[in-house]
Amino acid sequence: MSDLAFTEEASASADGAPCPDRSVVERTAWRRAEIAPGVHVERALPLRKRRTIGAWCFLDLAGPFDPDLGIPLDVGPHPHMGLQTVTWLFDGQVEHRDSLGSAQTIRPGQLNLMTAGAGITHSEHSPLPGPGTGGTHLAQLWVALPDGIREGAPAFEHHADLPGTSAGGVEATVLLGEHDGEGSPASVHTAIVGLEVRLAPGAERSLPLDAAFEHGVVVVEGSVRMAGDAAAPGELIYLGRGRDSLPLAADSAARLLVLGGEPFGGDILMWWNFVARTRDEIDQARADWMGSMAGDPVAGSRFPQLPHDASAPIPAPPTPWTRGGSS
Ligand code: MN
Repeated sequence: MSDLAFTEEASASADGAPCPDRSVVERTAWRRAEIAPGVHVERALPLRKRRTIGAWCFLDLAGPFDPDLGIPLDVGPHPHMGLQTVTWLFDGQVEHRDSLGSAQTIRPGQLNLMTAGAGITHSEHSPLPGPGTGGTHLAQLWVALPDGIREGAPAFEHHADLPGTSAGGVEATVLLGEHDGEGSPASVHTAIVGLEVRLAPGAERSLPLDAAFEHGVVVVEGSVRMAGDAAAPGELIYLGRGRDSLPLAADSAARLLVLGGEPFGGDILMWWNFVARTRDEIDQARADWMGSMAGDPVAGSRFPQLPHDASAPIPAPPTPWTRGGSS
């Protein structure tokens, strides 16, 4: 996913707050963002109060797009660096293409994991839905890469079959990391966990958590009781550190995402589709992408164009620190 609206500077949160009393520690409202002209998403991370959860640094919930309106997810070629993109569908399908030559259709229950390293280009298109075919509904997440990996080679993985656990009417799928003895095959570079949790009506279960991690929860659909507190879509619920379980219950069907990890060391700088440490790194990446679009072969070796993608590449907006300048 590309981030057309993201024009502000973001740096990492301070280390996660301890959560000794097991109550919900912080609720922050999502914000709306425009990712393509006329296409809005709910942004649950980063928020002004909460920039990261572990190495998780970005979470957009897109759709469900109304199939009768015919709005597909259609994001032309754009670059990334310094992060992994995690694409997770609730409904519909998305076709991923990237500059490694990957061409992969993703469907609900499957994981696309793209490691940008120093640079990669990709596009995401959902087929135009017809009436009654259902609309695309997905989560797009980013994971910040640590030093030593973020300057490295790009990679792409598709995992059609992920492990999970089931008890008490609560099913958990392990997208990244480990949970309750089940480990995802997806490549990670920090201590991290990502779960999709689905609750059946009347479900009740205490999910084990790693107390060394900070955790956050977003409810995608339905409503749940979390350690006795009501939780519903519209808020990022930050749980802090030191929590070894998450008691969940639901009267009707619900779906949520649980994100966790060791607090990410050091500040990160996020702008547009880039995760970096300094403005100079962002400026160079922006110049390389714009150079690639203009046909410069050196810039194009870092962020190749996608010759087999029919849609136009997305130009980078000016950075906030050079706006009005000669960028
Ligand atoms: Mn993207």
